[in-house]
Amino acid sequence: MTTAEDNFGSLRLWLRDGVDVYISPDNVAHVVFLSTRKRLRLKVSPSLISSLEWLDGSATVSELEEKFSEDTHASSLVDFLYYLYGKGVLVEKDWMMDGISPECASRFSRQLNFFLDIEESTGAALELLRRFMECKVALIGIGSVGSWILKELVQIGFQRFVLIDPKPLTSGDRVRNALFDHALVGLPKAVVADRFIQGQAVNPETWVRTLPLDIYTDVESLIGSDVDLIINTADEPYIGATSIKLSRYCVKKGTPLLVAGGFDAHLASLSEMIVPGRTPCSDCYAMHFEEALSDWKPMSHPVTDRLMGFGGLPSLSVFAASAAVLKIVRLFSEKGGGVERGRGEFLFDNYAIDSFKVERNPKCPACGEAMPLELNDI
Ligand SMILES: [Zn+2]
Repeated sequence: MTTAEDNFGSLRLWLRDGVDVYISPDNVAHVVFLSTRKRLRLKVSPSLISSLEWLDGSATVSELEEKFSEDTHASSLVDFLYYLYGKGVLVEKDWMMDGISPECASRFSRQLNFFLDIEESTGAALELLRRFMECKVALIGIGSVGSWILKELVQIGFQRFVLIDPKPLTSGDRVRNALFDHALVGLPKAVVADRFIQGQAVNPETWVRTLPLDIYTDVESLIGSDVDLIINTADEPYIGATSIKLSRYCVKKGTPLLVAGGFDAHLASLSEMIVPGRTPCSDCYAMHFEEALSDWKPMSHPVTDRLMGFGGLPSLSVFAASAAVLKIVRLFSEKGGGVERGRGEFLFDNYAIDSFKVERNPKCPACGEAMPLELNDI
């Protein structure tokens, strides 16, 4: 036994909800995590598999070992149970109470079970929730995509925000903004968002900023110097300009940046997660598209005032927001998968997700091998 197993014999484990066990004709046990569809295949003796039926939380592991002692596979029982405990298949009854309040355990119980599927240990699942609660997020743009991102982040435990959107909530936002409230029409969206967080988060901590992010804005004076994640959905002057400005700042600071939504052509986008040193930055993306579209010459449009001409559906905004939040969960997760490099989008006609890879560009002026830009160039 290792030190990690020292008190294992005293644990009262049970086979938790959300995991089904099937036995195939070749006596292989298939452990299926229902929420993630992950599977474990275990080739063990039928009697060990049947021992799972005893795991209702009433007996300690040592007591089960005693009960199992007549069986020829008895020596494997503790190893078998320890393996399943390490995979999050077996848990202690009150594992969610370990370090968080009963209110938090009750509020986040379903997602903690989901995190257990991803992270494969109760400690890591709780740690993922703690990371959310401690993370300080700067959200720039609280419109049709940004408002849904914020709502979902608060629902999964985020509570520390810098909220940036000076534009007032309008009656037209009723069909697209997750935080719409008739009584708040006319207030800056950052203020509307703050009211929402104060009513929903466990321990809300917000900084409301009713200034725009434009080309003249100093990023750090706008968002502060201690932000852990920046989310950009700002469409003015346009998402490409604000993202390049923020991305250059993030590359210098080593802060992750998520670019989502922005305008209607990006409605069904799966967003871009930019992690300095690991993924392409916004300059890399811009260079990629410049090269890929170099033979395409844009035709000037005969109508100049086209501001209301884009199509959209609230469902597409919510889809883009949910996809973005899932990327954030993956970013903070230990075993949730790597941060992908590229872009994807939902294609309505095909009912499919299309995606393509983009790599870091060695010639990138911000994150490439050449002399990087200085912070005061940003
Ligand atoms: Zn780059």
